[in-house]
Amino acid sequence: MTRLAEEHGAINLAQGMPDFDAPPRVKSAAIKAIEEGFNQYETTWGSEKLREAIAEKALSFNGIQADPTTDVTVTCSSTEAMTASIIATVDAGDEVIIPEPFYENYVPATIIGGGRPRHVRLRESGPSFDEEELKAAFSSRTKAIIINTPNNPAGKVLTKEELKLVADLCVDFNSLAITDEIYEHIIYDGRKHVSMASLDNMGERTITISGLSKTYSVTGWRVGYAIAAKGITSAIRKVHDYTTVCAPAPFQKAGVEALKLPQSYYVRLAREYQKRRDFVVKSLQKVGFSATNPEGAYYILADFSSLSAEDDTSFAHRITKSAKVAAVPGSSFFAYKGLGRTKVRFSFAKKDQTLREAMRRLTRFATK
Ligand code: PLP
Repeated sequence: MTRLAEEHGAINLAQGMPDFDAPPRVKSAAIKAIEEGFNQYETTWGSEKLREAIAEKALSFNGIQADPTTDVTVTCSSTEAMTASIIATVDAGDEVIIPEPFYENYVPATIIGGGRPRHVRLRESGPSFDEEELKAAFSSRTKAIIINTPNNPAGKVLTKEELKLVADLCVDFNSLAITDEIYEHIIYDGRKHVSMASLDNMGERTITISGLSKTYSVTGWRVGYAIAAKGITSAIRKVHDYTTVCAPAPFQKAGVEALKLPQSYYVRLAREYQKRRDFVVKSLQKVGFSATNPEGAYYILADFSSLSAEDDTSFAHRITKSAKVAAVPGSSFFAYKGLGRTKVRFSFAKKDQTLREAMRRLTRFATK
């Protein structure tokens, strides 16, 4: 959709990347690192300083105890952390539970790892899971469940109780939880992010994944990380070493600076995203989409069935070409494609003026 947006000069609300810049202090740290000669291979599992900074942040923000020497792996993005974690832990034929809707990469990563994806429904409003459906998905074949909170694309934030339900099943079936917490700081209406690994008995069986991309608006830097117990980390580090060797050295330096930003940075980040969310949800509703407020992350999965009888792909292509606003077809986020046929996903990680112009274009398109 990004390519189609570029081809048609459309505002790209498809791919989840900001059109605003990283904090100046973080950018300067990257420039300084390059100028000071940090341009060669880093330690394969991440620079010592960055691993220490990640371990400190994991303790203070996530409530996770991690030893930077044995439990932290710096990777080329959280996407790589997820793929490396799956390859490191899943054996041929193992099942991996992936609640749907999901971030598209989990399914191919599972297949590359030799695993078999198994899906349960993540409800877009109300309780996240149907307890019976979730229980029925676990079996002796379940190697892992992938939990993404705050969730892309549904904007769901899992409560402690919901995580506990998953945790108990992981313990009962000797399964791992692989958690994608890349949107941990982008969370609304006073909600608090809860990390699975902070729950009783879960530290040993959780791989916690996050990165710099979303929190510091540096999606092109490709720095992420995985936190896990020593034995699991050792396997993740091997996969990481033999696939990418190391994450970009100067951006690891900048990552250390990023992790020193004061609390006020994170408060402002969430507040500004919440303002954008409120504006875009209301505007989409006025245009005729059915959309509710996401609880976290920066996407809206909007239903367009009152505007058009087309399927999601045709509609997404048409608004990209005619309205000049790009969105992602909803079926991309579901294994059972029918669940996304009347939906498209908009990202609101954009400047206010970009969002205002996008909403003007959609309004004109709908009233034509
Ligand atoms: N995880 C989720 C849920 C995402 O939505 C995205 C990007 O859209 C990523 C991971 C990618 O993060 P990274 O840039 O660290 O690979």
